Amino acid sequence: MNKIIKLSIFVCAIALSNFTHAQNYTWDKLKVFSAATHVRGAASDEELQALKWLKAEYQALGYKAEVQPFTFKAKGKTYKSNNLEVVLKGQSAKTIVVGAHYDGITGTGSKGFIDNASGAIALLGVAKQLRSKPLPYTVKLVHFWAEEIGIYGSEAYVNNKENDLNNVIGMINLDTIIGGDYLYIHSAESKAYLCKKIIQSNYSVNPQLREKLISLSKSLNLKDGYKVHPQNNSYKEGQTGSWSDHYPFACKGIPVAYLESTNFFINGKDGYDGVTIHQPRIDFWNKW
Ligand SMILES: [Zn+2]
Repeated sequence: MNKIIKLSIFVCAIALSNFTHAQNYTWDKLKVFSAATHVRGAASDEELQALKWLKAEYQALGYKAEVQPFTFKAKGKTYKSNNLEVVLKGQSAKTIVVGAHYDGITGTGSKGFIDNASGAIALLGVAKQLRSKPLPYTVKLVHFWAEEIGIYGSEAYVNNKENDLNNVIGMINLDTIIGGDYLYIHSAESKAYLCKKIIQSNYSVNPQLREKLISLSKSLNLKDGYKVHPQNNSYKEGQTGSWSDHYPFACKGIPVAYLESTNFFINGKDGYDGVTIHQPRIDFWNKW
């Protein structure tokens, strides 16, 4: 297990280090993606635009990105939608899923730049960094759609029999990884999530992935490292709710780690707490 955890940490460290230099590949792509696809509201034409854009970028890196169509019902209507998966074959079939939703939060604030173009484009950065590198384990980079209106993409992914989850030994969710004060890393809540929509659920609260990521970030001397989110009235220290794409994987018994810069409960560094991301702060967000 130790080697497996090391690989997942490696993947995440790369994702995060990509944002430390404003001019690098990932940062530039993040700006281009956001400008080209706007806010990417669920069930909008921008989904197909974003899907096409991402697919072409993976192709340019020499990967084949597989579109996985699914349907979901919301507000009495049925929608057709798509996840996108890129497989980086390793020496072992044992697999780490690194996922991020590519739809965006609409309305005010950063208009989808932070939540969640940041996570989606980090996956592209990981793909570039791992290109042609021998991997001991397989890595699946998965872009989920329709997270903001009900976490439909990742639910569809784990419920899809074609996606063999038996070999998945960990899932890392990147959602809103920039824009807050620090990067927090959560594990699933010790009180089991409601897993009603997940076929054959088998809840896991295993915090091992969170702990290893935190200890490795310290050893890498990342500028701010990862932090454990403080305890609050709703959640124990380091644990989080079911509001993002890690939840269906936890329901399937897979250890999860959720990376999020949002701090919903305290005023963060310089006053940029996570709540700001979803609220009007035109003075701040106009800079992007
Ligand atoms: Zn999000």
